[in-house]
Amino acid sequence: MVESPVSEFDLVALLAARARLRPDVLLGIGDDAALLQPRDGMQLAVATDMLNADVHFPADAAPADIGWKALAVNLSDLAAMGATPAWCTLALALPCADVPWLTQFIDGFFELADAHDVALIGGDTTRGPLSVCVGVHGFVEARTALRRAGAMPGDAIWVSGSLGDAAAALYLRESPAADTPPRLLHALHARLARPTPRLSLGHALRGVASACIDVSDGLLADLGHLCAASGVGALVELAALPTSEALTAAFGSQHRWQLQTLGDDYELCFSAPAEATGQLCDIARQTGVTLSRIGWIVSGAGVRATDTLGQPWTPARTGYVHFDDD
Ligand code: ADP
Ligand code: MG
Repeated sequence: MVESPVSEFDLVALLAARARLRPDVLLGIGDDAALLQPRDGMQLAVATDMLNADVHFPADAAPADIGWKALAVNLSDLAAMGATPAWCTLALALPCADVPWLTQFIDGFFELADAHDVALIGGDTTRGPLSVCVGVHGFVEARTALRRAGAMPGDAIWVSGSLGDAAAALYLRESPAADTPPRLLHALHARLARPTPRLSLGHALRGVASACIDVSDGLLADLGHLCAASGVGALVELAALPTSEALTAAFGSQHRWQLQTLGDDYELCFSAPAEATGQLCDIARQTGVTLSRIGWIVSGAGVRATDTLGQPWTPARTGYVHFDDD
């Protein structure tokens, strides 16, 4: 029996069948463009991130994880702005019309989309080296969005959750250690494969944080972007970086700071005036996300990280930069 070929339209139909609508989607997938109804008094926050096979994820990664992560990294950008996501687009380049692959991709993508009531409203589907480009649109009340600019000397620097698990999972994939218990491997890998966008935290930080960024390229690199935008410098105490039990159990203190500054964490790093500490404790309780104070904003420029003895520490690499080796 000859199987009938699967067309681009069949693939889009699979996506459209799973796309959930929202009242503010007047016209979704299926026309030349979507029609959307923004809410009165709200500003639109818009972000796009592209994930390419063998650059951002191994081509043979679980398709459901690729789907989850492609959306998660975009939602993380909205979280860093304090915005609430509403709509997304999906541009997919696929080497072939692989329905089982797309079906699993859809499962991971919509598991996260449905959890945050995000509607897929359009996209594009082409043949090409595996690449996933998601765009997200969210709402934020006028003049309340968090920005990279706004940090003031004397502000405390905070980071959510824990740092380093995703980098540790990557490290162990490249240099497997035979004695790492599967339970730990699994916990670290989960943080790499399925990052949690800190949306409720970002929303709660509006009016409290003075500046905010999500940690994608590496803590020191991303904090550097926040400092550059704010026209300030930062002091980071590495011993204060939040560390998961899995990272401690798998690595002890070995490579710890290196792993914790490599990126792919999708935690929020933000500054806040010292008086906001009480409010931040409440926010941590309400959102169920731990917050750790890791340093201070200072006048000047640049990020200085110090070890337990107060000596300067420089990572081997400050963060991921594309085209850096050209
Ligand atoms: P056009 O030729 O006008 O660009 P397409 O055939 O590319 O139309 O797309 C038809 C419809 O399917 C559009 O609504 C488009 O947004 C949607 N679509 C195509 N690919 C995707 C995708 N990967 N995810 C979501 N919607 C998609
Ligand atoms: Mg098209």
